[in-house]
Amino acid sequence: MNVQFLGTGTSHGVPVVGCSCAVCRSTDPRDNRYRSSVLVTGDAGEVVLIDAGPEFRLQALRAGLVHLDAVLITHAHADHVHGLDDVRPLTRGQPLRVYASSGDIAEIRERFSYAFREHRVGGGKPRIELVEAGGADITVGSLSFRPLPLMHGDRRVLGYRVGGFAYLTDCSGVPASTKKLLTGLNVMVIDGLRKRPHPTHFSVDEALGFAREMRPDRVFLTHICHDHSHVELEDYCSNAGLPFPAGPAYDGLTIAID
Ligand SMILES: [Zn+2]
Ligand SMILES: [Zn+2]
Ligand SMILES: [Zn+2]
Repeated sequence: MNVQFLGTGTSHGVPVVGCSCAVCRSTDPRDNRYRSSVLVTGDAGEVVLIDAGPEFRLQALRAGLVHLDAVLITHAHADHVHGLDDVRPLTRGQPLRVYASSGDIAEIRERFSYAFREHRVGGGKPRIELVEAGGADITVGSLSFRPLPLMHGDRRVLGYRVGGFAYLTDCSGVPASTKKLLTGLNVMVIDGLRKRPHPTHFSVDEALGFAREMRPDRVFLTHICHDHSHVELEDYCSNAGLPFPAGPAYDGLTIAID
């Protein structure tokens, strides 16, 4: 299985529109952060997208995406679902299954109401089949994804675990029942918005502190804002005295997972 980061930025992306800070003006391509999303590719060629943010079309073109077997949604905030319409060219053959919590399914139906109206047939709408992600595993070919309830401020959202990989974007707390599902990880991807605290996102220290508790083999931060450059975060993580390698992810990074 491999995982490609299609985006690693917070809700406004980096650079931020109208901002001229050093990170937004950086020439390091790793400081350009599209909205957070990953693509999981299974050993049998299964392709699963986690979240479809506003840059999904650009991310799909950059990744050379030609097929999707399923989409898993973490939550229905704009930066995670507003690219959903752009799956349209990949739904010509058959409808695409999009998994989300029941509350988020209701929000997606409202935002993309045109896509679910019976009388509108043909071009102009993605063929999406919304499926509730509950407590059971979601099976896509040989891949089995476990939805992981997380707290994002006071909102309940989902992370996902597949094999030794866990994707925990947009969270500020992890329920005890979910912690039990995060043991023995090879790779943990976790929300690390910035060093300063935030009410609905883990800070870098909170993310690394949580990772210390779970002891994965390797940690990547995602959903990163423009407070810090890639290099600055890389240095910060390597000087944090962690018992595992940790650092910021960046757009385009692909990692192999056993
Ligand atoms: Zn977000
Ligand atoms: Zn900036
Ligand atoms: Zn969010």
